[in-house]
Amino acid sequence: MQSAVCPGSFDPLHNGHVEVIARASNLFDEVIVAVSANMHKSPLFSLDERIAMAQETFSYFRGITVKPLGGGLLTDFCRAQGATAVVKGLRGPQDLEYERPMATMNRHLSGLETIYLQADGRYTHLSSTLIKEVHSLGGDVSEMVPRAVHRRLTDRSADRPADRSADR
Ligand code: ADP
Repeated sequence: MQSAVCPGSFDPLHNGHVEVIARASNLFDEVIVAVSANMHKSPLFSLDERIAMAQETFSYFRGITVKPLGGGLLTDFCRAQGATAVVKGLRGPQDLEYERPMATMNRHLSGLETIYLQADGRYTHLSSTLIKEVHSLGGDVSEMVPRAVHRRLTDRSADRPADRSADR
């Protein structure tokens, strides 16, 4: 059985992620979506929330499971899961520049291969950061994220109404 890992912080998961992960699941028997704790950014959603949104979304797909990445090396996670490859989506040359050293490091460390899938043209403008920004300013992101994510984004903004004091 061939397994691959799709790692990311998914804060939150969007349709560009979903499309690439779904295509990866056509190439592998099993795809593990590995949700990272995100040490370098302060996430909008907790790890548990990000995992729950991904689990809800991928419950409709066969052969895709969602797990926390944990605090260790991606190569160790892949070995523990029996995965032989990492799959990444590429929106453009900047993504490749960013991914290349990590992919080379992972291959150096353990022979782990990275496979790149070209992002679908409908989603190359999507990033979690931009979606959060647009949503926080009142833009409609409902066509950019899965339903499980949109619901939580909406709940979140109802909990914390935008601070409009700067507009006054
Ligand atoms: P990070 O690894 O910086 O936390 P994300 O969680 O946003 O990144 O994304 C995880 C992975 O999903 C990225 O490494 C990239 O391979 C892929 N990805 C991100 N955005 C898109 C998109 N719009 N289309 C296709 N793949 C994407």
